[in-house]
Amino acid sequence: MRLDVVSIFPEYLAALDLSLVGKAAKSGLLDVRVHDLRDWTYDRHRTVDDTPYGGGAGMVMKPEPWGEALDAVAPPDGPAQPRLIVPTPAGRPFSQELAYELAAEPWLAFACGRYEGIDARVAAYAGERMRVDEVSIGDYVLNGGEVAVLVMVEAVARLLPGVIGNPESLAEESHSGDGLLEYPVYTKPATWRGHDVPDVLLSGNHGVIAQWRHEQSLHRTAERRPDLLAAWGDAAARKEDAAS
Ligand code: SAM
Repeated sequence: MRLDVVSIFPEYLAALDLSLVGKAAKSGLLDVRVHDLRDWTYDRHRTVDDTPYGGGAGMVMKPEPWGEALDAVAPPDGPAQPRLIVPTPAGRPFSQELAYELAAEPWLAFACGRYEGIDARVAAYAGERMRVDEVSIGDYVLNGGEVAVLVMVEAVARLLPGVIGNPESLAEESHSGDGLLEYPVYTKPATWRGHDVPDVLLSGNHGVIAQWRHEQSLHRTAERRPDLLAAWGDAAARKEDAAS
C-alpha cells in the first residue's frame, strides 16, 4: 500500500518510522511518502494561510499550495488516483469498519489541516478525480491533522496482511468480530501484589475459558459501551431471524 501525507509539520510524521508501521515500511509492505506543503509556496514567508472570507477568528489554509501538492503527489493524468482522507472534526467518524475499508485500498493520501482548516474548494477539486473522505477521529478538536493521520495509519496498517505477526489477534479484538469489547487479559505471574489471575484461566479447560471470556466481554460492553451492546443484540436477533 502506498501512503502519501502532506503537512506543514512533516517532522510530526516521524513516528511512522517506528514500531510495526516502520517495520512494514522497511519490509516494503508500505510505501510511506511524507511531503512538506510549504514546498508548494513561492513567497519569502512560505505562506500557507490567509484570513477567512466572511470574517471571523483564525486563519484558513490557502487552496493554491494544496492544489499544487495534490497535483504533484497524484498527477491528474496519472494512471491511478489515491483515495484522499482529509482529517477534520467535522468529518464522518473513523471506526474499525472504516479502517478495514481503507486497508483494502492500494493508495491513500492524507491532507493534514491546520488553523481553521483547509479552504473547502480543495476537497471539491480533489473530488473531481479521486474519492475524498473527510474523517474525524473523535468528538474533540486537535490543533492539526497530523496526530489524526498517525491514528488512522496505525489502525489501517495493522490490518494489512503480514504486518501483525499473528493475524488471529485481529479477530478477537474490541470493535472486531462480534462487535463486543475484549475481555480482560492477564499474564504471569499468577499472583501479583495481592491480585490473583482468575482461577478459570489456569484451569486448562478451553471451553470454560471461552465461555468466561464471552461473559466478561458482555459485562464490560454493558458497563462501558451500552451502545455497542445494543448493536450486538440487534445483530444477534437478525442472525436468529435469518436462520429460522
Ligand atoms: N475549525 C475547525 C472546526 O471547528 O471543525 C477545527 C480546525 S482544527 C483547529 C485544525 C485541524 O486539526 C483540522 O483541519 C484537522 O486537520 C485537525 N483536526 C482537529 N480535530 C480533529 C479531529 N477530531 N479529527 C480529525 N482531525 C482533526
